[in-house]
Amino acid sequence: MEKVSLKINSKSPLEEKHLNWDSVQRSFDRSFGSEIYSSWLKHISLIKEFNDYVILGVKTRFFRDWITSRYADKILSELKKHKLSISRIEFKIEPENSAIKTQFSENLMNKVSDIKNSIMNYNRLNPNLNFDSFVVGKSNNLSFLSAKKACNQLSRYNPLFIYGGVGLGKTHLLNAIGLELSKNNKVMFISAERFMYQFIKSIKKNEMVSFKDYFRKANVFIIDDIQFIRGKEALQEEFFHTFNSLFDQSSQIVISSDRAPNKLDRVQDRIKSRLSGGLVVDIGAPDYDLKLKILRKRIHDYQSSFKENPDLQEDVINYIAKYSNSNIRELIGIFNRVVAFGKMSKKPLNINDCKIILKDVYNSNKVISIDKIQTVTSNFFSISLTDMLSPRRSRPLARPRQMAMYLAKKLTSRSLPEIGRRFANRDHTTVIHAVKTIEKLIDNNDEIRKNIEELKSLILSD
Ligand code: ADP
Ligand code: MG
Repeated sequence: MEKVSLKINSKSPLEEKHLNWDSVQRSFDRSFGSEIYSSWLKHISLIKEFNDYVILGVKTRFFRDWITSRYADKILSELKKHKLSISRIEFKIEPENSAIKTQFSENLMNKVSDIKNSIMNYNRLNPNLNFDSFVVGKSNNLSFLSAKKACNQLSRYNPLFIYGGVGLGKTHLLNAIGLELSKNNKVMFISAERFMYQFIKSIKKNEMVSFKDYFRKANVFIIDDIQFIRGKEALQEEFFHTFNSLFDQSSQIVISSDRAPNKLDRVQDRIKSRLSGGLVVDIGAPDYDLKLKILRKRIHDYQSSFKENPDLQEDVINYIAKYSNSNIRELIGIFNRVVAFGKMSKKPLNINDCKIILKDVYNSNKVISIDKIQTVTSNFFSISLTDMLSPRRSRPLARPRQMAMYLAKKLTSRSLPEIGRRFANRDHTTVIHAVKTIEKLIDNNDEIRKNIEELKSLILSD
């Protein structure tokens, strides 16, 4: 049971009176206004009533967070009008009561987690992750073309090595290659982690011979997330031999990694040189255009699978593309969330709602500290933290400082005065000025926009 509770000091008058939930609801409607009421409060149910507190039911964690962060105080004071002894409310998430149509969003979410599972599922290809569903833009064009080429001219590029950050489409591309080639070949698709699991299992069960045989039978060997072998000597040894024997029999080898071959520290040099001996391509962070394209494709897919429109206003789509993080997995998550909440509140969301959702998404994933923002930003610009926080106003210090303030405002829930204090006791108006300046620059200056995107992904990663 997940609970969030809110406490205020009660004068504890004893009253034995039961709440009439209908009349409470009517007073919510009056005091919050019909829009907030019908979007949010109407869906709250009364689960249990005690003398001094009540347990209220909501459908989802997001719903709960939204309501507690915005309306909890006022809900409590409304309740006290009906029953003075109440001093506390608790929210319980009761998804099974969900009368609201969340089915579609759950379907979408399931799809995403299916994909995740299938990555873990040894040698199983996901039919949805194919070349047609892969949206191509500047950042991934080269890897896309290389992947296609590798399929057309088997073992011409051997190995094909695709690297890039999290959630940028590496597994998707590897899977697409696997699907395409499995029509006419014996394809082996495995994550490096799973490879290790099999390896250890085989050693324990004394089945190394069949292990070796098994992997060497493939004429297409695709291994995902090879960075996993870093620091694992025995695994590297085995991988090296597997690689060589596959290579010698001209099997196509495809590899993904979160970094370039030469950046794979704690990996044997002979392996690194093998890995970079074919074609090495990187997959970059999506730019605004690619993010837009992916969103449009999602809208299109949504329409064809649910036979209804996701109701996203144009400015909301642009907003998501612009302010979401450079991670396609997260972009899709945000899309699902925004659509789901638009549907739930039965009105298309506006930019403001969207801002809150984005912030919640980031905050729910990890707690981001101002310290972290400051360290990442000063490292990124190769200036010292002391200089960045100092009163000096030269551009090379002032810009990073402003960017860090901007990021503190966008990525944390700290108030402006708090942020000011954390930047060597500056005034909150300085923070406002910084946020406005950077917002303008993001619109007009490519470099600043890119810097901010990179900073965001650095701060949000790990
Ligand atoms: P990685 O392996 O690089 O961490 P994934 O391949 O798992 O990333 O991609 C994360 C999610 O984003 C997946 O749902 C994937 O289908 C989707 N995705 C990534 N790139 C694209 C793209 N270019 N077009 C459509 N979907 C994409
Ligand atoms: Mg992956």
